[in-house]
Amino acid sequence: MLTLLLSSSYSSSYSSSYSYSKAGSQPSTPAIEYEDEDEELRGLRANKNNTTTMSTTLQQLYDQLLAAFGPQDWWPGDSPLEVMVGAVLVQNTAWKNVTRAIDNLREEGLLSAEGLNELAQPELEELIRPAGYFRLKARRLRSLIDFLFAEYDGSLDAMFATEMSTLRQQLLGVNGVGPETADSILLYAGEMPTFVVDTYTHRVLARHGWIEYEADYHQIKEHFELNLQCDVPLYNEFHALLVRVGHLHCRKTPKCEECPLFEMLPPGGLVEPGF
Ligand code: SF4
Repeated sequence: MLTLLLSSSYSSSYSSSYSYSKAGSQPSTPAIEYEDEDEELRGLRANKNNTTTMSTTLQQLYDQLLAAFGPQDWWPGDSPLEVMVGAVLVQNTAWKNVTRAIDNLREEGLLSAEGLNELAQPELEELIRPAGYFRLKARRLRSLIDFLFAEYDGSLDAMFATEMSTLRQQLLGVNGVGPETADSILLYAGEMPTFVVDTYTHRVLARHGWIEYEADYHQIKEHFELNLQCDVPLYNEFHALLVRVGHLHCRKTPKCEECPLFEMLPPGGLVEPGF
């Protein structure tokens, strides 16, 4: 979510060339079979998988990041409604711009479901202008608020009392809500156990050879959920830490030597350096 907070929107246009091998329902076993990879890389992965499981690797990754950066205290919002609004406004912009837009709404006493519902569209556009793409985002916010009132009479409590997969599907049906925004709302506003994936998550895992570059959003999400304990605080912190390392180190041009994950790179170095 600092796709949320800091960078770009996630592209889910990747095509898959690997599949999961669920050994029963054991989440702690290596879960990925790679297809169409070269022999050298296959050997590297086989060797890696002989000595550690994916769940162990993810745990090490988490521990390493937490030791380096400490708790991130996400999401930076005072209420579920504010988190939800922030999840829309942060698309394709930096968080500092979102805070200005949210402050405008707060100062006008409009940071509530009822306030937003009664707000005229031109006024909403003006108040959220600092977040950029303000007309588009105003339409998306309007769609989300319309959905909240149409389905749940404006009650976030009622919305988050809905079974998670049902609510996720509903949110994905709202204009402008993609998987990352939906999962951010569910995890950070609703405290529901769904893992949020963003560009940084994809990049870090692919560069270390833990997933294929072509893996799509749901494959990466499943990779975490199959190999981690189903735990809201863990999902919350893990995503925030991945955003932190991505923002500070794993940018388009990676800064591996200064990165706390340097020692977790495979012996041959970056697997997917070029994105
Ligand atoms: S910057 Fe290098 S070491 Fe750090 S996460 Fe990215 S690929 Fe790994």
